Amino acid sequence: EAVEASQEQIEKLDSTLHCYVTTDAKKALEQAGHIQKKIDEGTLTGPLAGVPVALKDNLCTEGMLTTCSSDILGNFVPTYTAEAVRNLERQGAVILGKTNMDEFAMGSTTETSAYGITRNPWNTDHVPGGSSGGSCAAVAAGECFYALGSDTGGSIRQPSSFCGVTGIKPTYGTVSRYGLIAYGSSLDQIGPVGKDVADCAAILEAIASYDKKDSTSVKRESYDFTSALVDDVKGMKIGIPRDYLGEGLDPEVKSAVLSAAKTLEEKGACVEEFDLSLVEYAIPAYYVIASAEASSNLSRFDGVKYGYRTKEYDGLHSMYKKSRSEGFGPEVKRRIMLGSFVLSSGYYDAYYLKALRTKALIKQAFDKAFQKYDLILGPVAPTTAPKLGKSLADPLKMYLGDIYTISVNLAGLPGMSVPCGTDSKGLPIGLQLIGDCFQEKKIIRAAYAFE
Ligand code: GLN
Repeated sequence: EAVEASQEQIEKLDSTLHCYVTTDAKKALEQAGHIQKKIDEGTLTGPLAGVPVALKDNLCTEGMLTTCSSDILGNFVPTYTAEAVRNLERQGAVILGKTNMDEFAMGSTTETSAYGITRNPWNTDHVPGGSSGGSCAAVAAGECFYALGSDTGGSIRQPSSFCGVTGIKPTYGTVSRYGLIAYGSSLDQIGPVGKDVADCAAILEAIASYDKKDSTSVKRESYDFTSALVDDVKGMKIGIPRDYLGEGLDPEVKSAVLSAAKTLEEKGACVEEFDLSLVEYAIPAYYVIASAEASSNLSRFDGVKYGYRTKEYDGLHSMYKKSRSEGFGPEVKRRIMLGSFVLSSGYYDAYYLKALRTKALIKQAFDKAFQKYDLILGPVAPTTAPKLGKSLADPLKMYLGDIYTISVNLAGLPGMSVPCGTDSKGLPIGLQLIGDCFQEKKIIRAAYAFE
């Protein structure tokens, strides 16, 4: 019934919203049948058994097209499934399909997809955010019960905020990246997008695991997150970076975030403002590091091993060049060029190394803050969802919209977006809660109390 309900919504809404790039209704129903049998026999229990999920299209799924919303992977059917997805399958999840995203997760609006835009279910003239825009819009529109996204620089939290749903980016190393098509490997994390905090906690509990196949996977002491679902923030120390409330922040977003802080204060948390520092360096450092890693990661798409190959060419180099020129879209090419430039000899020290040093300083600034605070609270994004067609013309301006999310990735921290109201146009606003490494439970506790 859950699968059918989601499929009815897809049938009704997806021709307008375009949350999905691939669906397989028949396979999902078959799968649901098998799982139902196991539930009836009592061999499959647990909260996610039979619950339908949508997967961002950068998560490899055996036998199912995985495109990264790029022409270069337009024909790519993986021979294996991402570990996070396998963890869900072991719990009896039913996969409805693959969701639209910015090409290779590069973008903030889901408009860089090679397969067309996704619309925001709250107002279809607006973007859903990105890059996990398809996943977040699908949850908001009831086209799935929950979804997985990936967050390299805000891509779970920002579209969750724009679509009025809840999303967590876990501590780096918590969810295996095996089978996640890499963008910026030192920043990428898979995480849940759900209707509320309790759903996200349960999903995170299911997907998080130690995995030998991911060399950056961390063996955590515990993978329990749901025990933090208690309505109690008494005595919790919460800091709001003053630097997150300044210029560029929409006054309506600011007032919603400050009123959320007030609610937590009324519930017994101690909330105060502080200076985080270095905030203005996060965007340049992130775009240097993420693009550098992307330029290296994306060199594997050469038309030889898998993916798109140009039809006519004259020798090996011409084949590489034409396949890549035709297969990648403009935003991806921009990042590859920027990344290759900052890694090239003569510029490496001036840009890449400097960005790495900045990253270390940003981590230190957070370390200092977490000596004093349990959590950091702030906005997810400076504005609510912009109108379609307004962002790509000025990429630098679009990058500035990542100001509050990307330092969390640079420092490897967990961060969550929780709905905290709407603006005067009726568009959702997200509250961001940031914790120290491995402190997801504190985030979940505060988010649950607030919600
Ligand atoms: N806006 C960020 C970028 O374009 C989003 C990255 C992400 O989290 N996938 O790099």
